[in-house]
Amino acid sequence: MKLHMQILIALGLGIKRNWHIFSGIILGIFVGVFLHHHSFPAVSELLTFIGQIFIRLIQMVVIPLVVSAIIIGITSIGDNRQLGKFGKKMVLYYGIITTLAVTAGAVLALLMKPGQGAAHYITENAADEVQASVATAMAQQQGNVLNMFLDFLPSNPFHSFATGNMVPIIVFVVILAIALAKVGDVNRPIVAFFESVFAATMKITDWIMFLAAPGVFALTASAVSHFGTDIFHSISKYLLVLTIGFLIQLFAVYPLFLKFFSKVNCATLYSAIAEAMMVAFGTASSSATLPLTIACCEKRGISHKISSFVLPLGATLNMDGTALLQTVAVIFLAQAYGVALTPFLIIQICLLAIIASSTCAGIPGAGLITIALILNGMGLSPEQLVAGFAFLFTIERITDMMRTLVNVTSDTVVAAAIADNENEINYDLFNNPAAYEEITA
Ligand code: ASP
Repeated sequence: MKLHMQILIALGLGIKRNWHIFSGIILGIFVGVFLHHHSFPAVSELLTFIGQIFIRLIQMVVIPLVVSAIIIGITSIGDNRQLGKFGKKMVLYYGIITTLAVTAGAVLALLMKPGQGAAHYITENAADEVQASVATAMAQQQGNVLNMFLDFLPSNPFHSFATGNMVPIIVFVVILAIALAKVGDVNRPIVAFFESVFAATMKITDWIMFLAAPGVFALTASAVSHFGTDIFHSISKYLLVLTIGFLIQLFAVYPLFLKFFSKVNCATLYSAIAEAMMVAFGTASSSATLPLTIACCEKRGISHKISSFVLPLGATLNMDGTALLQTVAVIFLAQAYGVALTPFLIIQICLLAIIASSTCAGIPGAGLITIALILNGMGLSPEQLVAGFAFLFTIERITDMMRTLVNVTSDTVVAAAIADNENEINYDLFNNPAAYEEITA
């Protein structure tokens, strides 16, 4: 059977197992459209409130989970050489997947020219100003990339914890975990402490998941009720480019990647992680989905060693769906404002999108904000692109839901590939969900 058919069937099976969450999404779309046409502000507010409860609860466990998972993951790998090997492979795989994403985004946006249709919304003055700024910046090349790297290093880790700034938190925790791995047996009390924290946060996640269906329903309905369906007409080409890009990642890039780098069957993987995919779509947050992503992978035989190392780092650093969107969005803006897209500028956009996406936290809306970094590299500020940005914001939430699903899926693709390469996957469990159900019965 064709791989695409296998993937669709597997997804269908995954949805069947999690039909309640899927029904939440579908019902949410219908209720959202209804609410958009018949204004019931109190109902919309209530839905937003219910959705927020779900997101807050799940976000509550994210920092303890990320910290404990990374510390257990890195100290359990222990041996320095093995850690370096896993780490290098992880960076390489995430890098390949994100590079393919920005390439797909750039090619599609250049071919389909989504920004041209928006050009008549932009005043001539605004377009002239933007074109001049880009030209000056290109001439001077005053990118601010070095400063951005400096911000990754926390001067006070507790401040980063208090503000929930994930990249510096991860940098600190990875350094701490490597140090713990190096000091040997004296690390036992601390590691044992984090093992308990991890187990307890996973338990809390199980409880929160009882709210998954109503939570995802409320989030989808409130998102759809805000933008309605009319907006799709004015911005349909942009949305189409993104949708094709995301589908290419899901149905071409990941299956081929897994074929090339491992013997993991993509269809089986998608069926295993269907629940996490749906929650990613509903919450638009990779971080909030993380507990579930880890649970889905571990339940199906991807070792704790790999999933607790690769997935938390992926949920923060690997954002290929976001990188794809950022590339398309910036090319969209350039086309709308009539900026000449030279090969140099396109390459610069793609590289900046790789960096900007990996600095972005796994929370709703972060990706559109870090676009500022790419624009900055091009000599622009979001304020100069007000009209164009207004367009992007109208459908921000729905594109966020889609890109988050892609982000989370690619984290699991990389985790599965590394687990396969390192003999850290139990194929009896992976290929046979019933085996897991038997064990837990
Ligand atoms: N919401 C995305 C995520 O959590 C990040 C983004 O805004 O692109 O993966």
